[in-house]
Amino acid sequence: MTAWHLTYETYKPQDQGLREALCTLGNGYFATRGASAQVSAGDTHYPGTYLAGGYNRLTTVIAGKEIENEDLVNMPNWLCLKFRFTDGQWFSPETATIRSYCQELDMKNGVLIHIVVFEDEQERRIRMEEHRIVHMGDRHTAAIRVLLTSENQTGSLEVESAIDGTVRNQGVKRYRDLNCQHLEILESESTQNEPVFLKVQTVQSELRVAMAARTRITKKGSPLDLQAELINDNGYVGKRYTVDISQGETIQVEKIVLVHTSRDIAISECGLAVRSRIRRAPRFDDLLASHKLVWKQLWRRSDMKMTERRKNRQDLRPEMVVRLYTFHLLQTVSKQTIDLDVGVPARGWHGEAYRGHIFWDELYIYPFITLQYPEITRSLLLYRYRRLDTARAAAKAAGYTGAMFPWQSSSNGREETQTMHLNPQSGRWLQDNSHFQKHVNAAIAFNIWKYFESTGDIQFMCEYGAEVLFEIARFWASIATYNKDLDRYEILKVMGPDEYHDGYPDADEPGLDNNAYTNVMATWVFTQALNALDILPRDRVYELCETLGITESEIELWWDISRKMRVIFHDDNIISQFEHYDQLKELDWDKYRKKYPNIQRMDRILEAEGDSANNYKITKQADVLMLFYLFSAPELKTLFKQLNYPFEYETIPKNIDYYVYRTSYGSSLSWVVHSWVLARSDRKRSWKFFLKALQSDIDDIQGGTTQEGIHMGAMAGAINILQEAYMGIKTRGDFLWVNPELPEVLERLRMQVRHRGSTLAFETTQDMCKITLLCSPKNTFKFGFNDNMYELTVGVTRKFHI
Ligand code: BGC
Repeated sequence: MTAWHLTYETYKPQDQGLREALCTLGNGYFATRGASAQVSAGDTHYPGTYLAGGYNRLTTVIAGKEIENEDLVNMPNWLCLKFRFTDGQWFSPETATIRSYCQELDMKNGVLIHIVVFEDEQERRIRMEEHRIVHMGDRHTAAIRVLLTSENQTGSLEVESAIDGTVRNQGVKRYRDLNCQHLEILESESTQNEPVFLKVQTVQSELRVAMAARTRITKKGSPLDLQAELINDNGYVGKRYTVDISQGETIQVEKIVLVHTSRDIAISECGLAVRSRIRRAPRFDDLLASHKLVWKQLWRRSDMKMTERRKNRQDLRPEMVVRLYTFHLLQTVSKQTIDLDVGVPARGWHGEAYRGHIFWDELYIYPFITLQYPEITRSLLLYRYRRLDTARAAAKAAGYTGAMFPWQSSSNGREETQTMHLNPQSGRWLQDNSHFQKHVNAAIAFNIWKYFESTGDIQFMCEYGAEVLFEIARFWASIATYNKDLDRYEILKVMGPDEYHDGYPDADEPGLDNNAYTNVMATWVFTQALNALDILPRDRVYELCETLGITESEIELWWDISRKMRVIFHDDNIISQFEHYDQLKELDWDKYRKKYPNIQRMDRILEAEGDSANNYKITKQADVLMLFYLFSAPELKTLFKQLNYPFEYETIPKNIDYYVYRTSYGSSLSWVVHSWVLARSDRKRSWKFFLKALQSDIDDIQGGTTQEGIHMGAMAGAINILQEAYMGIKTRGDFLWVNPELPEVLERLRMQVRHRGSTLAFETTQDMCKITLLCSPKNTFKFGFNDNMYELTVGVTRKFHI
């Protein structure tokens, strides 16, 4: 194993789904799971292809109710490349005997490799070596090169290369009872002299997708002039070739695929686009070379080099996993995403779980992206801006003002959260109240403000960011109610990030009062909205207030709430997750640990037992602790002081202990937050949680969820622990602040970041930190280290003792 490769050396049917998700190749425009090109969808394999933002809606009747879901659509499978001896069975992991197997993701070059020796029932062996790319520089192109060597037979080999448009959304077992036929075939064509062509359309959103595939077979470098058998069968379109092969001989099959959609820019029509581009598409080797160059440049910027102080230097796993998670992040959002009008889906474009929807998880994803590729964050934030009107309408419909963004968002920004969800543990369909998580609005405002702080992009703020910020502030002002007795404002009937609690024990209605995270975040939103009114250019502020009808009295209300929001405490300075949290029962953790092998989803366990998580002091994931994740201690102290609440620094470790103990880790985001909040006070435990965060997808420790799509928030959050927590790189105000502190097990950490046009290299050990200014538009760069300001000139390195 090297730290650049994810390698599987045996074929394990039960693990293939997970491996396919982890070996997904993508470029920010589309992604294809790392399934073998010889398999079709079933319980073991699932060769899904997804377009960033490729959604469609379908209705199903469940328990007598019509339910509409908007899904990320599984697009035609372009991988299909099968082979067999003319009188034999197809060589596929499902039908042939596997004599040797290796599936390897080469992250350095963005190449997926399968090397398999298959044997058919007549003991004829073929060695297959496949290299696959989804081009990182040309977002419409993917390519496969397969070398087939006959190990012990001379005969005729049939090779079938196709595009399969008969696919449906079948990737998530829980959703299989729902209507899943998202595509209809518009055109399919297989002719002797032209590449294979398929055009489909999503049945409701009318997104047209065209694909063309050019297949070329060579022997010893010379192309074979072969007559193909043409296949065109209800959306499965391809060509079958017959090739003579002698024992020991190798043939090469090269398949180049072009994908365009009706959403694309700089085209006339997607069918025309793929037809003309496939003719001039380069050969595999040239595509591979240009693809590798893009990855080289991406890694030059984004590779985090982490060296552990360990005896056994062979154990490269954490380094490898950090790269794997970086790799998937860079494949989910990239330069290719910029004009696509998409957000970051919680499960990547890697599978069908959560239907490709966008949640608050962007909060965990942007810090890394913004310090590396700020232009990508900008475009992702515009996804929200373009849905501002829908959010305004949602607020109005719910009786509020301003903008209320949905908990789950996809095509047009309406609320996409399902209304019912299945508890697989009990088999019951239950009401899904997670859309009560209004805190997503604070996350959107936070992301906008942090982007602005990091980049100083005043144009973005003036034209887009401030408007969203003001409308969100308005929403918080309208949902907050004034409690005269306490002279405090409250936010009632919402949910915090902890999805185990959606209401009070035995209450008829969902919703909780005064979730501390929501209330403090709303306070922060008001504070920044007021700040924006002060610091943005006067003329633009005037225009915005004029357009949005923001009045003096409204601004006074924002100010008043930002001083009087209610936060509830219990015991000795424990911030109550919500009002009356202290009255809930303690869970007998030992009892459940003994009874169930995995208690991460305590909500499902309790519901199946006829009980409810609402009755207990347990949390699925960080809720109160999110405050310590997002804000530094001084920032929190200022916020609490502003609210006239006492806040001592000891409050932090006390609350961390209290809530870490009560967390069941039902969401992989918890490990990220827990590692982060302990990074300074308990480096050992922080590292343990960091390893858990790393482990979560690669080992699928949430019991089968990763195969349905990676957990993008947890992946990005984990790598950001290295950047922001351990290297201690944060933007505050106009400057970058650095305050490194490595966990004891790390010897060295190296990375690069960009801040306001300058590129800096960082290298930290246990006692020393070196910062080099690599380039800068002004030739110098001012930054903070611990509490002091320093200035660097291009090419100069400064050393700091820690
Ligand atoms: C978590 C949410 C998260 C969602 C998507 C849920 O399990 O509780 O916080 O936004 O997954 O990742």
